[in-house]
Amino acid sequence: EDHHIATPARTKEILQRHGFRFKKRLGQNFLTNPAVLKRIVEAGEVTAADDVIEIGPGIGALTEYLAESAHQVLALEIDPQLIPVLAETMAPYPNVTVEEADVLKVDLATLLAEHFDGQHAVKVVANLPYYITTPILMHLIEAPIDFASITVMMQKEVADRLTAGPGSKDYGSLSIGVQQRMAVAIAFTVSRTAFVPAPNVDSAIVTLTKRPQPLASVHDQAAFDRLVRGSFAARRKTLWNNLQGLYGKDAATKAQLTVALKAVEIAPSARAETLTIESFAKLADALKAAGL
Ligand code: SAM
Repeated sequence: EDHHIATPARTKEILQRHGFRFKKRLGQNFLTNPAVLKRIVEAGEVTAADDVIEIGPGIGALTEYLAESAHQVLALEIDPQLIPVLAETMAPYPNVTVEEADVLKVDLATLLAEHFDGQHAVKVVANLPYYITTPILMHLIEAPIDFASITVMMQKEVADRLTAGPGSKDYGSLSIGVQQRMAVAIAFTVSRTAFVPAPNVDSAIVTLTKRPQPLASVHDQAAFDRLVRGSFAARRKTLWNNLQGLYGKDAATKAQLTVALKAVEIAPSARAETLTIESFAKLADALKAAGL
C-alpha cells in the first residue's frame, strides 16, 4: 500500500483529524495524485545533490516526495493552521524544515544562507498558490540567487503567457520579461481532478532555467523592462501611441521617437505583440541613443 500523504484517502484522513478547512483566498488546492507528484520531482530532476525550496507545502504532499529525493528541503507556508499538521506529516523526514512565512515578504538569499550549506545546487519546486503566481515568479527571478532551476505548477493560462512568442495573443511583457532571463518550457499539463478541492482552471508544470546571458543583449536592462511594459500598456493601440504614453507627446519627444524607430526599421504603426525580444532590445538602445 502507498504510504504517501497524497493519496485521496490519507489526505482526507489528515484533514479531518486536524479539523482543517480550505482557505480559498490562500489558493489552497492540494494534490492527491501520487503519479503527478512523482512527475513533478522528475521534471525538476531533483537528486541528493540538490537543496530545494518549496513554496506552500500545504499538508506536505509534494514535500514528502522532495524529501525522498533531495539533500535538504526548506518549505515556506503562510497558513499558521498548517504548521502543526506539517510537524506531524514531516516528522519522518529529518531533512525537511518548515518555516511559517509569506514567500513574497522573505529575503530568500538570507533564508538560503541560514538553512543550506552552499555545497548543493539550489532548486525551487512548488505547486504555487495561483492568486500570486506572477508576483512569486518575479520575486524568484529578481532574487540575487542562482537557482539551478525553478519547476512550478501554475494555471495553464499563465504557463501559455510565459512560453508565448511574437504574434500570439498570449505574448506580452510577462513573456518577454521572463524569456529574456530564463529558458522556459511546459513540462506537462495536469487535470483539475488531481487536486482537492478541484481548481476551476487547468494547470501546467513549467520549468525555468537561467540563461548564462540574457537572450538579447541590452545596455540598460531597466530601460528595456520599462520599454516593454510601456509598449504593451494598451494592447490594441499602435507602438507609436504606446511610446508617446511612455515618453511624452511633445514635438521634441516625437522627433526623438521617430529617429529611434527609423534607426531600427520598426514602423510606428506596428503593434508591440509583433516585435521579437531582439527588436525590443535594439529599440531600447536606439531610444537611448536618441536621448530618451
Ligand atoms: N504543496 C501542496 C500540494 O501540492 O498539495 C499545496 C499547494 S496549494 C496550491 C498552495 C499552498 O501555498 C497552500 O498551502 C497555501 O496555504 C500556500 N500559500 C498561499 N500563499 C502563500 C504565501 N504568500 N507564502 C507561502 N505560502 C503560501
